[in-house]
Amino acid sequence: MSQGRIIKVSGPLVIAEGMRDANMFDVVRVSEHQLIGEILEIHGDRASIQVYEETSGLGPGSPVVSTGVPLSVELGPGLLENIFDGIQRPLETMRQSVGSNITRGINIQALDRSRKWRFKPTVSVGDSVVAGDILGTVQENIIFEHRILVPVGVEGVIEQINEGEFTVEETVAVIKTPDESAKQLTMLQRWPVRKARPYKTKLSPDEPMITGQRSIDTLFPIAKGGVAAVPGPFGSGKTVVQHQLAKWADADLVVYIGCGERGNEMTDVLMEFPELKDPKSGEPLMKRTVLIANTSDMPVAAREASIYTGITIAEYFRDMGYSVALLADSTSRWAEALREMSGRLEEMPGEEGYPAYLSSRLAQFYERAGRIVTLGSGERQGALSVIGAVSPPGGDISEPVAQATLRIVKVFWGLDANLAYRRHFPAINWLTSYSLYVDRMSDWYSNNISKDYNEYRTEMMKILQEEAEIDEIVRLVGIDALSPRDRVTMEVARSLREDYLHQDAFHEVDTYATMIKQFRMLKMILDYYHMAQDAVKKGIGLKELFGLPVRAKIGRAKYVPQDQIEKEYDIIEQELSAQMDALLSREGE
Ligand code: ADP
Repeated sequence: MSQGRIIKVSGPLVIAEGMRDANMFDVVRVSEHQLIGEILEIHGDRASIQVYEETSGLGPGSPVVSTGVPLSVELGPGLLENIFDGIQRPLETMRQSVGSNITRGINIQALDRSRKWRFKPTVSVGDSVVAGDILGTVQENIIFEHRILVPVGVEGVIEQINEGEFTVEETVAVIKTPDESAKQLTMLQRWPVRKARPYKTKLSPDEPMITGQRSIDTLFPIAKGGVAAVPGPFGSGKTVVQHQLAKWADADLVVYIGCGERGNEMTDVLMEFPELKDPKSGEPLMKRTVLIANTSDMPVAAREASIYTGITIAEYFRDMGYSVALLADSTSRWAEALREMSGRLEEMPGEEGYPAYLSSRLAQFYERAGRIVTLGSGERQGALSVIGAVSPPGGDISEPVAQATLRIVKVFWGLDANLAYRRHFPAINWLTSYSLYVDRMSDWYSNNISKDYNEYRTEMMKILQEEAEIDEIVRLVGIDALSPRDRVTMEVARSLREDYLHQDAFHEVDTYATMIKQFRMLKMILDYYHMAQDAVKKGIGLKELFGLPVRAKIGRAKYVPQDQIEKEYDIIEQELSAQMDALLSREGE
């Protein structure tokens, strides 16, 4: 272990000498206060250290001791329902032991050491196991089964396996490794946060992560294991979108990383998340959530660490064979922390003062997403989908963080302040948003939803784009100059926006739409479109066409509960055909 002395303090950055034997990324304890820091750089015997706690009052001469281990997280039962700070200290436990003002240098373990968990083995004595195999399970709470895995780097034959109630530090299994030594395994594992956890193979992202939100699922879907970015101009509905995703996304659990700028932003999250109900189980959503929160009293450096802490925890659950959704809000705040540290390190600044490695750091983070085959002897699959919010100052997405993010992610949900102002929610702009997964997932849609699905989606997009073009013309020459064909397109585009894309997150039924419901709703609107285009060719008046009584029913179709869709939607389709036929035959007389 290396022991040195502080020679300089600059905000969260401390320079120490006498650190020749320390390693890059080692965790160090700084000063008599034992503040937690991490080595960013070593030149000769000088180390640059980012300190995760308030450094005021620190001065030259104070001791710096390297712990010899990299910044790591603790993994095991007790992660769920917990709120951690950026370096995985449990906020509630901390508050109980030291009060609401976080004292410096406190030593609190991430996972509760006294709590006992009922461990149920799934292997027997004599079984051969490799890293990633499941040793046993712990019912962490009524909805979540925690799977205890053979740690990375361990294999051998089970010599002893215990059943019963254990703390995370008690032995649950003993393995005889190939070199004939006996290895005791507990339910607690550690993993360095800056290193991606290994897996066997990466699978192609060809299956959607259904969210029940029509504008996302139909127009700009994210794949399981995919990466998406969502910008959040103030008041554009970013929080509601994130809550909807956390509640409804087809994921077994959610890791939410909050890097708030202002203290109250984070307080909101800390208050709101525990209140959310899990619609799938009726239990609090926290039962399948891990929250990482950087409160305002923590220095920027902890923000920098938090996204790694969060994604490592998410990978751990992925490795159990779960589908995990990670929401990071906001990566802009994270990048600002990176910029601040870079400035203090006196690195050469890149665009707008961000370090030149901003893009590669962002890419390394998003690359940890994916659908994979886990380690272990089976063919267990897991997925980690990452949704990063970007909150550029002034909502300007041409700035470096947003631009670097857009080069990496495959999905962009462009939340639009104008749409929100017009109360079109979710305010996802259908003209600027995109999903690069659509083509890859087309087989999934034709096989699982309908062979017509992809075609319908394309047609919907086309109508919405045409509307934007026609809008330009209307602005120049007025609506009366439009051909009947274009008038129908405009009317159907309006219906697509208002009846389809608009979705009320707070309506009991409308808050979630299954893929079948989405498909059937879309089909009704497009059936009307085709019939109406046909009818105008035959000289039917727009007034009659637009005033068909069935259209009001199409407009309310989103409020039809899932179990009545089959019946109700069939009726609407029949009425649509009947009313169109009546129009046409009347005209023919
Ligand atoms: P932001 O986090 O971007 O500042 P919010 O997510 O808090 O904005 O949304 C602001 C308001 O917009 C909400 O309080 C709500 O009234 C409305 N809103 C946003 N999204 C929806 C939605 N999907 N359905 C209904 N109302 C919404």
